[in-house]
Amino acid sequence: MVDRFEPAANVWAAPEFSQQIIVAEGLVLCSGDQFIHEVDLLLAEAVVSSHYLGELGGRSCGVRVLSRQLDVRGHDWRNLRSLLTSTEEHLFALAGRALQVAYWDRDHRFCGRCGTATHYHSIDRARSCSNCQLTVYPRISPCVIMLVTRGEECLLARHANRRNITYTALAGFIEPGESAELALKREVREEVGLEVGRMQYIGSQPWPFPGQLMLGYLAEWQGGELCPDPNEIEEAKWFHYRSLPEIPPVQTLSGQLIYTFSEQVATGVWP
Ligand SMILES: [Zn+2]
Repeated sequence: MVDRFEPAANVWAAPEFSQQIIVAEGLVLCSGDQFIHEVDLLLAEAVVSSHYLGELGGRSCGVRVLSRQLDVRGHDWRNLRSLLTSTEEHLFALAGRALQVAYWDRDHRFCGRCGTATHYHSIDRARSCSNCQLTVYPRISPCVIMLVTRGEECLLARHANRRNITYTALAGFIEPGESAELALKREVREEVGLEVGRMQYIGSQPWPFPGQLMLGYLAEWQGGELCPDPNEIEEAKWFHYRSLPEIPPVQTLSGQLIYTFSEQVATGVWP
């Protein structure tokens, strides 16, 4: 049975929760693939802060941030990415939420405007400055991820500076003042020198590396010759939907875009 997660309506409602996710230095404490622990796993000596996240399967759940990676018998410290394919989507999102809350708390102890120490906001998940009233919420960075398509082909790229060699969709950050659609057109132009026309929004996914929200689109090629920017792209190629290379797993939005495209072409929905 899937334990449903209900995000906390009041983030300060349960300072003592009954299930915990334990993080330290960007890693998550796991026992096998399991990372939600009962609170009898006590590591109090190293706890820097605790944050209530919400109700998981009807029981309160929070994150405890440790100052360092303690050795815990039968457990190991794993990076979040390694949980992506071994964890159900809603639990992976919960682990991402835990780490993002931990990062926000760690990174905003002092006001970025005037340097005064900040305190917790009385209602919201936020840290406020009592000197200048600046309030800082966990930061989410919106990105677009787009699969450029041309008839029955789609454009996949291998990115420069990445260890893995999987082909994936193009992606980039949305800049201040841009809509998602304008960012998409700009990124495609910058990364591979192509122009795109019609777009279809497919869905979104939180991508906690460290705090992106990915907005996923199919985008139809409209013109231009493939000319990858060597600083960003190692290689970019058109692939027919029936002869794709190794692609990202379906747990990722990139994988979902490719599967959706293949399905839509096969059934005549797109382009
Ligand atoms: Zn301030």
